[in-house]
Amino acid sequence: MTYPNTQLFIAGVWRDATDGKTLAVFNPASGKEIGRVAQAGVADLDLALAAAQQGFELWRDLPPIERARIMRRAAGLMRERAGDIAALLTQEQGKPLIEAKGEAMAAADIIEWFADEGQRVYGRIVPSRGNLALRQMVLKDPVGPVAAFTPWNFPINQVVRKMAAALAAGCSMIVKAAEETPAAPAQLIRAFADAGLPVGVLGLVYGNPAEISNYLIPHPIIRKITFTGSTPVGKQLAALAGKHMKRVTMELGGHAPVIVAQDADVALAVKSAGAAKFRNAGQVCISPTRFLVHESLKNEFAAALVEYAQGLKVGDGAAEGTQMGPLANPRRVSAMAEFTQDAIRQGATVALGGARIGEAGNFWQPTVLTDVPLQAKVFNDEPFGPMAAIRSFNTLEEAIDEANRLPFGLAAYAFTRSLKSADLLTRRVEVGMLWINMPAMPSAEMPFGGIKDSGYGSEGGTEAMEAYLNTRSVAVMNV
Ligand code: NAD
Repeated sequence: MTYPNTQLFIAGVWRDATDGKTLAVFNPASGKEIGRVAQAGVADLDLALAAAQQGFELWRDLPPIERARIMRRAAGLMRERAGDIAALLTQEQGKPLIEAKGEAMAAADIIEWFADEGQRVYGRIVPSRGNLALRQMVLKDPVGPVAAFTPWNFPINQVVRKMAAALAAGCSMIVKAAEETPAAPAQLIRAFADAGLPVGVLGLVYGNPAEISNYLIPHPIIRKITFTGSTPVGKQLAALAGKHMKRVTMELGGHAPVIVAQDADVALAVKSAGAAKFRNAGQVCISPTRFLVHESLKNEFAAALVEYAQGLKVGDGAAEGTQMGPLANPRRVSAMAEFTQDAIRQGATVALGGARIGEAGNFWQPTVLTDVPLQAKVFNDEPFGPMAAIRSFNTLEEAIDEANRLPFGLAAYAFTRSLKSADLLTRRVEVGMLWINMPAMPSAEMPFGGIKDSGYGSEGGTEAMEAYLNTRSVAVMNV
């Protein structure tokens, strides 16, 4: 499928930026420019804001069942078009076609789950303390127009988790998706437009991220901010939102520990954590990164993970059979080189990989580092790439302390056959999401989000709906 240029979507119309500015889009497998994306300026943002206000007034007054019908139609279109959308996603982001198609299909699933959930936004009647003529009501109303900022690692998924919940709650939304991967999220918006979404309910803009967030967050029309990306940027945006008293959801970076206890099923741990580690070339916020393996299993685990990673077919995501594509942008290749060099300097062993593949595109070898010292950069900063760093431990308490050492608190994994250990891990590991004896399994119905520096708020389950609702108390005395 030919890669298209991507326009802005404002007030129900696909359009170029008012001043005609565009940015280049590159294929990470070749490093070549494949298209352009419109770069919005203030004039475009003003149009998008006015449309979002009008869209909100229309959408909030539609019965939830009507909103659900439109959302379900959009989900159906995503499913029908998943093959074509995947081809675009792979060209701009690099992930294997099978993962790209899975992302488009998962979007349909998420939209449908929230379409249903939107019909179950109940308030309550609270009995009064004395007077039976007093009716006390708790009401849930949509918070208003939302500004959403999303990254390039899951160009569709990161948008749809926010959008499906916001639309189900009755909010309108302006999305600033990632400039590096613009065509796939544009297809998501197109599915909603083709499904009959009223004009203005969704807007899509691209441009200079800081300029757009600095303009949208303080703007009086915007009532809620939601961001997925790195912790430093999240802190800046949360501070700006706080200054303007805007509600915020922050889905930020992580540094997921994988605790392989003395009584773990090593084969299961390698299969589960290995697959999760190299999926999307490790550019996943919940990717396993700090492998903490019991001393007695250290060599066995490392050898098995190396064997697993060696077996991965790395190549252009568009090629048949590719299991790991290139990194999404050249910044990640430089970062991988820096993490590797630093780890070697600090005394780690490179058990596998540790180098770029070829000269064209952003390919990096699946990398396994062993005996990594605690002070190594890879054990402190989120690697966000195909790099597993392994250290050993002696007691489970020691492993839990290491898991909790960093300011991040997004995801963690553990492998143990002991109920007692599983219970201790459940209580003590400070993360928003913990998976024991299994790979990560995020779903629309389970809360998705972090604690500590990994952010606040949730993008799954009923909690995701709450993020887009105001709770109000109304009391009526029947005189
Ligand atoms: P970055 O921190 O500059 O950008 C991360 C994302 O935030 C990008 O999508 C970018 O467009 C956006 N962004 C940056 N500044 C912004 C601003 N002022 N206003 C609004 N949006 C802004 O770095 P990067 O090189 O794109 O990614 C590097 C790091 O970001 C990774 O190492 C990883 O830690 C983190 N990241 C996390 C996720 C996630 O799923 N949580 C996704 C992508 C990147």
